[in-house]
Amino acid sequence: MREPAMPNVTDALVPEVESPERALARLALDIARILDAALNGRELGFEEGVRLARATGEEVRALVAVADQVRRETVGDIVTYVVNRNINFTNICFVGCSFCAFSRTPKERDAYALTLEQVAEKAAEAWQRGATEVCVQGGLPPEMDGFFYRDILRAIKARVPEIHIHAFSPMEIVYGVERTGMPLRDYLLMLKENGLGTLPGTAAEILDDAVRWRISRQKLTVAQWIEVITTAHELGIRSTSTMMYGHVETPEHWVRHLLLLRDIQKRTGGFTEFVPLGFVPWNTALYKSGKARPGPTPEEHLKVHALARLLLRGWIENIQVSWVKLGRALSQHCLQAGANDYGGTLMEENISRLAGATAGQYLAPEEFHARIRELGRIPAERTTTYQIRRVFA
Ligand code: SF4
Repeated sequence: MREPAMPNVTDALVPEVESPERALARLALDIARILDAALNGRELGFEEGVRLARATGEEVRALVAVADQVRRETVGDIVTYVVNRNINFTNICFVGCSFCAFSRTPKERDAYALTLEQVAEKAAEAWQRGATEVCVQGGLPPEMDGFFYRDILRAIKARVPEIHIHAFSPMEIVYGVERTGMPLRDYLLMLKENGLGTLPGTAAEILDDAVRWRISRQKLTVAQWIEVITTAHELGIRSTSTMMYGHVETPEHWVRHLLLLRDIQKRTGGFTEFVPLGFVPWNTALYKSGKARPGPTPEEHLKVHALARLLLRGWIENIQVSWVKLGRALSQHCLQAGANDYGGTLMEENISRLAGATAGQYLAPEEFHARIRELGRIPAERTTTYQIRRVFA
């Protein structure tokens, strides 16, 4: 006999057809006022964000309902996705982030490094399968030639001139600068001239140096992350923005992180989207050593997506769900909690899978369409920079 299915915790938190006004009517005055202000388009501050981040029970239902309403007013009912392929060109890395289960030392049996030809071949295959983007990131091998990133761009563009290259985290950019001795601006310009389209705003984890010290001592600092991102934006290289949550951080860190991204966006306008990345703990040293909690709870996933919608309102309009980390049901719930983008088809995914995620490596466009339609929303394929290619009405 099969065991009865566990009740889905998030089902209880995502209001079926409840209006935000009805949800607010049942709340304490302080949080009802904040959510009402958010509904009316007023920019929220730190204390207000923390009150929302610490919401419980009925308050979370209201937060989700308000974020969903703000999403509807801001970006409508279209849910976008991009046809792309991940290319992780090497897993050899000396940095040793304790939350990472992907990296290997050069001597480990399953260490690998793709040649430029292999990287270009993967990009060509992706293009043939309808991809408009390749997302290229990898470990940081010791003694890497600082011009290797430029050469990757050249190799891909020589094979597939039209594909958009979304590549190299701020950590990789800092490493390239270090290895070449070039000024940051010149290094980024060189990459742009050789085909770099946009930067992934990864390596952000939590933008707080004390938290970073606890989870990855050799990672770039908050100031370095900001410098890479703002310099890229000034040069016309746009980027995504991300946050990894569910490990050692507190709700206060979420709010400070989001407000920092909002401030950067006010200055540069260069972020295309915000991607909340729930920590996948299972195979990581950080979790196994007992120093972190076992990833976010379903309620935390909903709160982070909803908070992002409200705190970034007017500045970063696209909130993405990470289907790799969330799986089917939770990613759909987060799309009902303020998010409007389903991410990419990926075609191959290594980082979350090796940390213990089980959602798979590829999501076909038809699967995106089915999941989006189940929510009563409209699927649309987009480019990396959110130009709509095709609406599947
Ligand atoms: S997260 Fe990136 S930099 Fe850190 S250990 Fe893993 S591959 Fe290396």
